[in-house]
Amino acid sequence: MTGVGAARIGAGQWRTVRVHAPEAVDAPRQTRTRTIDAKDDQVLGKGQTNRWWRWMLALWCALCAPTPVVAHDAPGTSAPIRIATLLVPGDDVDAERVLAGEFDALFVPLDGIDARLPGGFDRSQWLRLEVTPPAPDRDALHGAVLRFERVPLERITAYLPRGDGTWRMQVDGFYATDPGIGVLPGSYAFRLPPAPPGPRTLYVNVQERHPVTLRPQLLDEHAFHLADRAVSGIAAATYAAIVVLMLSSLALFVALRERAYLQFVGMTGVFLLLLLLALNGALYTVPGVRAFGWWRDHGIYALALACCALALGFARHFLTSEAVSARMHRWIDRARIAWLAFAALSLCNIASLGPTMQRIAALAGVLTALQIAWLAWRAWRGGNALARPFWLIWSVLTVLIAVRIALAFGWLPPHPGLLNGFQVAVAFCLLLMSVGLADRVMEFRKQRDLTRELKEQTDADLQIEHVRREFAEDLRERLRMAPPGGEMEWVAFRRVLASLKAVLPQRSAAVIATGYHGIDLLLTEPLDAKDRYGRLLIERGGTLKGLCRSRSPMQVTLDEIGKEATGAAGGSLFAVVPMAMPRPGWGALLIERGPNEPFEPEELKRAAEFLHLAVTTTDEALHQAELKRKAEIDQLTGLYNRRAGDAVLNEAMLRAIADRRPLSLLFVDIDHFKQINDRHGHPVGDDCLRATAEAIRRQLGERDTAARYGGEEFLVVLPGHQPEQARQVGERIRQAIAQLRVEGEGGPVRFSVSIGVAARQAGEDTPQPVVERADRALYAAKRNGRNQVHVASSLPYGSGPGAPDREDTVTL
Ligand code: GH3
Ligand code: MG
Ligand code: MG
Repeated sequence: MTGVGAARIGAGQWRTVRVHAPEAVDAPRQTRTRTIDAKDDQVLGKGQTNRWWRWMLALWCALCAPTPVVAHDAPGTSAPIRIATLLVPGDDVDAERVLAGEFDALFVPLDGIDARLPGGFDRSQWLRLEVTPPAPDRDALHGAVLRFERVPLERITAYLPRGDGTWRMQVDGFYATDPGIGVLPGSYAFRLPPAPPGPRTLYVNVQERHPVTLRPQLLDEHAFHLADRAVSGIAAATYAAIVVLMLSSLALFVALRERAYLQFVGMTGVFLLLLLLALNGALYTVPGVRAFGWWRDHGIYALALACCALALGFARHFLTSEAVSARMHRWIDRARIAWLAFAALSLCNIASLGPTMQRIAALAGVLTALQIAWLAWRAWRGGNALARPFWLIWSVLTVLIAVRIALAFGWLPPHPGLLNGFQVAVAFCLLLMSVGLADRVMEFRKQRDLTRELKEQTDADLQIEHVRREFAEDLRERLRMAPPGGEMEWVAFRRVLASLKAVLPQRSAAVIATGYHGIDLLLTEPLDAKDRYGRLLIERGGTLKGLCRSRSPMQVTLDEIGKEATGAAGGSLFAVVPMAMPRPGWGALLIERGPNEPFEPEELKRAAEFLHLAVTTTDEALHQAELKRKAEIDQLTGLYNRRAGDAVLNEAMLRAIADRRPLSLLFVDIDHFKQINDRHGHPVGDDCLRATAEAIRRQLGERDTAARYGGEEFLVVLPGHQPEQARQVGERIRQAIAQLRVEGEGGPVRFSVSIGVAARQAGEDTPQPVVERADRALYAAKRNGRNQVHVASSLPYGSGPGAPDREDTVTL
């Protein structure tokens, strides 16, 4: 005879106990508890966030740091070049005259390896490059390639000397490329024609609106290929990475329907990719989109401005700018609109606006990066853990964008490391952002799940609260109607079982109690479980009684009944909720479940709450009933008092009218009672009153009622009695009282009563006339000599108090 149960050992703590009959406890085990702790969840999320961005930053540094080194002119160094520039107003300087050397004296030699040109279509921009092959290998220039980084140039024309004194002219342009150039051009490349060994002079004409810095390189074929391949390779890898990010984000958007992913795809996939392709010149080599070159530099500005607007949109959503700062949120929205408007203006391709648009696009880039970094900083300070890596990424991006703008303006030399490092770094920032986005979406989902769970919990709580309120109201109403004396307890506990069935999954339930308000109870749900619970009470009553001593709800396995119910070896699990009541009485609510369906602490609490409510409501109802009873009962005789007697009479009258049944009244008055008092004293008079009441009560049927109507006057209501039957009752009462002997000081006291009888007549709908007739009949009896019964004659309805009483009474 063993059982396992969970017992409460403190606030919120539970342990399971194995019960050996009758009461043994061992093998503590934690019960299943489910708690939702929002705080823990946040702490976990924060920890994860911190981990990923630290690792990603470390990886980023490891990857990006060597990029400039790898991409720089490592494969081969350029032959020494002496650069001179010629800047002549007007764009019609004849190339033949330049090649003939007419302008040589005007060329200004430069010291470094970079040539900075001021730009503008209103002047001719010429470079003269003097190349001297290194001394040991005088033919090193044979087959060499003149190479420039592929920065935006409207048109670049190289004049390369042949051995025979003639020149080969070769033209290239950033926006309108030769179709044979390939898809990912790494540079502007001009192959030198064969010529006798020795120094050479090359001329290059540049047409470009904006200032530009050029760095000419003269490489042998092999070194040129290596350099170009490095540039193209890095660019291709960057594009591929962005496309992969874009596709994965798109897939995530389709799967999760999270708008931030779509914005990310828009920003990275479409615009940033296009912008990088455009900045590298690759966009103008791709068939189909080559036409984009029609917009020239305006296309690049439009893309850059659109990128800014999209990046702001993404950051706004990602960092929930609305919550961070309403002011910043407004400014971000304004900036987005402004950049989109300028992008549209750029697409108008107004040539004269070129330099202005270039400055606006540059400003937009820097401002956007700063604005997002600032927003991320504020969000981080505001407690958004994910904003910190976002802030770091955008701080880095601010620097990168500034560098790229410096390159575009020609303030920095077109160092391949800078050009390539920029796009690799941007791609990696995008990767970091996409990882952050995934983390954020995870957090969103967690929050949403948490909210949903809390909502479900709240709904369940509300439903339980509804059932509980209904239960309490219904119980109060039922108890108000129920007669006391055991009925109330049955009504209350049957209602407990019915209500708990709706809120607690169960196989069966029972309320057992011994000595509760002086009665024993066994109620079960369903009703046919009564035998099983009866047996349980016989076999395990001692165990249950012991468990009830703890006064806390618990769950136990009670083998015998459980085995029988389930046929399983484990037996059923029972929630035992003790009932609060004074000793030696004890009682409990039992709820049965399968062995693998343990009760949650919440459920035990709920059951205890319902039981407690039933007990307190029953006690209260009993108390109320007792008060009411006391208010209705005459203390001396134990009969109803006059008020209650009137109420009974009223009710009997209504029922008689409804049932069309007769109703009779008796007025009983002790004869010469004053004399009894005077002779034997009031206590004896009281005894006479008590004896009279008892004698009357004995002569009454189940539906008859007696009330003490005045000092020594009694009213008897006889529903269903014809006047003759009433008279017989009165006569029996009279005789019974006449035989009474009440002990007085001077020996037994004898006394008699006079009785007036009246019956309801057809058409009477209030007790008043009947009472008056009975009263008159009584006085007639008194006048006729007392100790007799007088019946009021059955006169038609309407014979009122004014009618002469001698004529309406009959003395028997
Ligand atoms: P009759 O035969 O005409 O009815 O005369 P009676 O003396 O019975 O009637 P009366 O109305 O003159 O006297 C009623 C007396 O009943 C007066 C009062 O002192 C007495 N009485 C009223 N209530 C109580 C009570 O609770 N206890 C006692 N002992 N006497 C009471
Ligand atoms: Mg009287
Ligand atoms: Mg009297």
